[in-house]
Amino acid sequence: MLTSRASETLENTHLKNPLDDSDKAREFVDGIKDRAEAKGFSFQVLKEGESKGSRARLGILRTLHGLVETPCFVPVATLASVRSLDYIDLTSLGVPSVLANTYHLHLRPGDELIRKLGGLHKFMAFDGPIFTDSGGFQAFSLGFGREHNISKIGGVFPDPDRSSSIKAHSLRRSNLTKITGEGVHFKSLHDGGWHFLNPEISMRIQSNLGSDAIMAFDECTSPLSDYDYTKEAMERTHMWAQQSLKFHNPNQAIYGIIQGGWFEDLRMESTEFTSSQPFDGIAIGGSLGENKQDMHKILDWVIPNLDSRPRHLLGIGDVDDLFEGVERGIDTFDCVSPTRIARRGSLYITPQAGGCQKNKFRIDVKALKFKEDPRPIDPYCSCPTCQRYSRAYLWHLYHAKELSYFRLASIHNLHFMLRLMESIRESIAKGTFRELKDHWLGKALPRETSEEISRGKSGCNESGPNGYRVCDDDLDA
Ligand SMILES: [Zn+2]
Repeated sequence: MLTSRASETLENTHLKNPLDDSDKAREFVDGIKDRAEAKGFSFQVLKEGESKGSRARLGILRTLHGLVETPCFVPVATLASVRSLDYIDLTSLGVPSVLANTYHLHLRPGDELIRKLGGLHKFMAFDGPIFTDSGGFQAFSLGFGREHNISKIGGVFPDPDRSSSIKAHSLRRSNLTKITGEGVHFKSLHDGGWHFLNPEISMRIQSNLGSDAIMAFDECTSPLSDYDYTKEAMERTHMWAQQSLKFHNPNQAIYGIIQGGWFEDLRMESTEFTSSQPFDGIAIGGSLGENKQDMHKILDWVIPNLDSRPRHLLGIGDVDDLFEGVERGIDTFDCVSPTRIARRGSLYITPQAGGCQKNKFRIDVKALKFKEDPRPIDPYCSCPTCQRYSRAYLWHLYHAKELSYFRLASIHNLHFMLRLMESIRESIAKGTFRELKDHWLGKALPRETSEEISRGKSGCNESGPNGYRVCDDDLDA
């Protein structure tokens, strides 16, 4: 049983990183892989470091519900639904896997009900691999975010003027979230009632949902958190990581989450600790600094210290992020961005159709200039929307508030992301990833421009007027 073996390993390893000794490290990781395979979960790296200076790797994640070729983008199905799309759409788009949300499904319709109805795969009629998050992210971010009118990822790259106006100590006071070593009490945004989540409950909910890969319960700090608070939260996350290993359903693969905000020593400590635990995969979460350069730095600190277990970057998924993350060795990404921005009129375009870092590879189809535009969203796109409809028609549907707009726009954006990842995988296989990245991103942008973009309206960093994403976005996944 993993649980008893896990406890033995915990006692033996403490904080020591097994990677300190290469034979032991191999033995440790092989042991985890054997146990993971026994529950139908395995990860195989097919190719790694295809060019100098690149850690991009090609792999296959196998689960009892099928396989996922990596690097891969995992669309988010917050409430057991990729918004506006159904099973037929997901199948025809070739969506290999989705990530559903523990917090929201626990509150609505309830994980016990989903268990009674046969689990999440049956409930949402999706038979591919399903990831679930731990629920901690929403429990923390929605409370704090609502009180400060920001949300967790919204603050991935916060506006410095705004950051200084929120005192760090206010992070500890909240009327909607109470955090203790035991867990988090939070006020539901649905019914106003108080609820409680801790590692044991999060593991039970995720077991009821029956997902293939689950996340350990963690505290996701805000980017506004100071060093002391981030350290305190990281230590709580490490304690909860061990409890999550103890209480999780041994038939589910479990990912540990590296926290530590944007402080190098904390990220390194969390990397060492999380890697030393018998998790089946490793996720990188939490605050990722003030801008995208900081995020790249954090990935550069963390990833070289990870072993061959699968790596997931939580909640990040802009076009440039995918390239930068893949290049640094990330295997899977999840983000609400493609479907969320689609519903707001932002539709992706390739470089051939004029997409670039400056326009974030998007057109705003609701803009007046597209009212009479007979061209498809992207003439180089083979999605069903582009094969049949014009920008002018989508402009009309958007302004007429026709429901079909949401589906057609979401189909295009998801198709774009999935094909982009497919071309990234092909390029790694051929050894041409760097060329593909240059083709898409071109020359590196000047730092100011890049920072401006990273703080502006962007993907999961979709912002409100002050550079912060409004917290209700978390309900709008
Ligand atoms: Zn299209």
